[in-house]
Amino acid sequence: MRNLQKLNEPDILAKNKEQWLQDYLSDSDNKYKRTKYRHKEIKEALKQETGDKCIYCESKIGHNTPGDIEHKIPTSKNKTLHFTWHNLTIACTECNRRKNDYYQEEKEFLDPYEDDVESLIEHYGATVGWKSGESRAEISVKILELHNSTRTSLIFRKIEKIEDLNNVVERYKKESNPMIKQLMKKQLEKMSDRKSEYSAMVMSILKSKNILKTIQQ
Ligand SMILES: [Zn+2]
Repeated sequence: MRNLQKLNEPDILAKNKEQWLQDYLSDSDNKYKRTKYRHKEIKEALKQETGDKCIYCESKIGHNTPGDIEHKIPTSKNKTLHFTWHNLTIACTECNRRKNDYYQEEKEFLDPYEDDVESLIEHYGATVGWKSGESRAEISVKILELHNSTRTSLIFRKIEKIEDLNNVVERYKKESNPMIKQLMKKQLEKMSDRKSEYSAMVMSILKSKNILKTIQQ
């Protein structure tokens, strides 16, 4: 998980949210009225602020995982937040399905827009853990099943990323031509960029190899 910043509310939502909510509350089985938040403008803004990634597992939203607009506080727990900008974000199908309608006050999921998730989540290769004693981090990780190898395709993708990263790091270390070395450095910067897939994991690996500071200079 990476810390995120909320962008401005899209105009279409600002203008229509109250009406949309009224329409939905008066006829909540109507799928058309219920899914107005899926408007293209809203989804585009959310993709921009999340780097087109699932906010929980950092997988890029692609063709295999279309990605769903996620209600941080599920509609089943609070209908009035159904069209609220600050309650909307993006999660992949796999994380969305696992989180489902989980919400418990004081034990709610980590919120990358509010919590310093980068210090609360710890990375062990392709799996993640949580900072000792941080129960909300523990709950989030366990419900999403990010702490073990249950989510095979996610783990495989992350392992591939680790292999790519190790290759680049090795080449970077060995390279004697300053111009090529500079290019390798740029590549490492890109891989640890907030908008790149699994960049929190990438950063933790670079840190363990003592080169994170070098590439951030
Ligand atoms: Zn995910």
